[in-house]
Amino acid sequence: MSQTKILVIEDEERIRQFLQRGLGFEGFRVDVAEDGPTGLKLARDNPPDLILLDVMLPGMDGLEVCERLRSVNDEVPVLMLTAKESIEDRVKGFDAGADDYLVKPFAFDELLARVRALLRRAQPKKPKVFRFADLELDTGTRQGKRGEVTFDLTAKEYELLELFMDHPRQVLTRQVIFDRVWDYDFGGESNIIEVYVRYLRQKTEVDDMPRLIHTVRGIGYVLRDEPTQ
Ligand code: CA
Repeated sequence: MSQTKILVIEDEERIRQFLQRGLGFEGFRVDVAEDGPTGLKLARDNPPDLILLDVMLPGMDGLEVCERLRSVNDEVPVLMLTAKESIEDRVKGFDAGADDYLVKPFAFDELLARVRALLRRAQPKKPKVFRFADLELDTGTRQGKRGEVTFDLTAKEYELLELFMDHPRQVLTRQVIFDRVWDYDFGGESNIIEVYVRYLRQKTEVDDMPRLIHTVRGIGYVLRDEPTQ
């Protein structure tokens, strides 16, 4: 996995170095800018995974940086740092598009907790590709691929395959599959799971490719690349 990159836009050298040191120690890659325009340019040209943005900045204040940035990038999490704590400032920050807010002086641990929470929240937006054996599932395009063959999936087929891909080699009971893919009150006696597993097998076993979704008799199913025992 590539290193998570954080852009720190802060004019006060002491705080900038404190953040750079602390975040660097935690394994983040840290870029810094000392004024608003430089920070905005860096954020646009080389988008980070998260931005720490001071409000009072030379050149252009943090609120304007955030507003301008949001017109081109509405996904990167922005954590505002401010010297003042007032409801009004807070509202202004959120209006400008900030995701969270931290009042100076702050403890590094508090900052780190907020940073991690924002990064976690931002994660699902990034397309991710699940891989198992020669099978792939792209959560961005919601398409599957086996070897060189790409296939489309209906909404339920996708959910079911994602459940398998997210739990490889783990036996999924019929109850777990019902709970996660269908509503809990969907009739447990129905053969809908069998029907959907059959659809997925048809799509993932073209040209006699070996089976990946195996039946575990009396229990459920498992995604596995060894032959059925
Ligand atoms: Ca400042």
